[in-house]
Amino acid sequence: MNEMLLKKELAYISHKVYERGLTQATGGNVSVRLPNRDAILIKRSGVSLGEVTAEDALIVSMDGEVIEGSGTPSKEFRFHLGIYRTRPDVNAVVHCHPNYAIGYACLDKELPLPTVTARKILEHVPVAASAPSGSLDLAQNVTRVFETYPAIKACLMAEHGVCAVGDSLEKAYNIATLVEDTAKQSFIVQQLKATMPQAVTNS
Ligand code: 13P
Ligand code: ZN
Repeated sequence: MNEMLLKKELAYISHKVYERGLTQATGGNVSVRLPNRDAILIKRSGVSLGEVTAEDALIVSMDGEVIEGSGTPSKEFRFHLGIYRTRPDVNAVVHCHPNYAIGYACLDKELPLPTVTARKILEHVPVAASAPSGSLDLAQNVTRVFETYPAIKACLMAEHGVCAVGDSLEKAYNIATLVEDTAKQSFIVQQLKATMPQAVTNS
């Protein structure tokens, strides 16, 4: 796929993340690896995912230098690059702030996987330790989780959000949606168990 098409796809996926309620305000960022180039496309910092256009997709080298586009790249470019360096199979990263997944991320616990679908597709969703947004520490914490568990498709970010990956933007987006819906389902299961202990005993 050529660079302009990938920029348009980055904008399209960003809109889907926002419209599905996986993030709010200017939270979240999306990137994609450029084929045949040691560089990525990543969203401009401070732009709402609901408003991203192809022009907001900056080209950033694997060393973190802006090669093309105006403005500042997402402040989280370091953990996007860290994941691409660690995981050659990953071509796209979606970072977002979805409500139920953040609930579990604030407990600093890996995501419970109550359904067969979640266990089959997600297998394991660990949590990266908390650090301020855009910090080197956060980039190291997220990258370390992807190094420690080389097959994961997503991690929670303590007190912050979710980082989902895939071999395409569409796949990374689908993983982000599955993580959030799994968190919601886990919450419902836990509520039901708490309010209907009888049902749990009988099952
Ligand atoms: P950017 O606007 O710089 O991408 O930051 C959004 C965000 O989610 C920070 O964690
Ligand atoms: Zn964020």
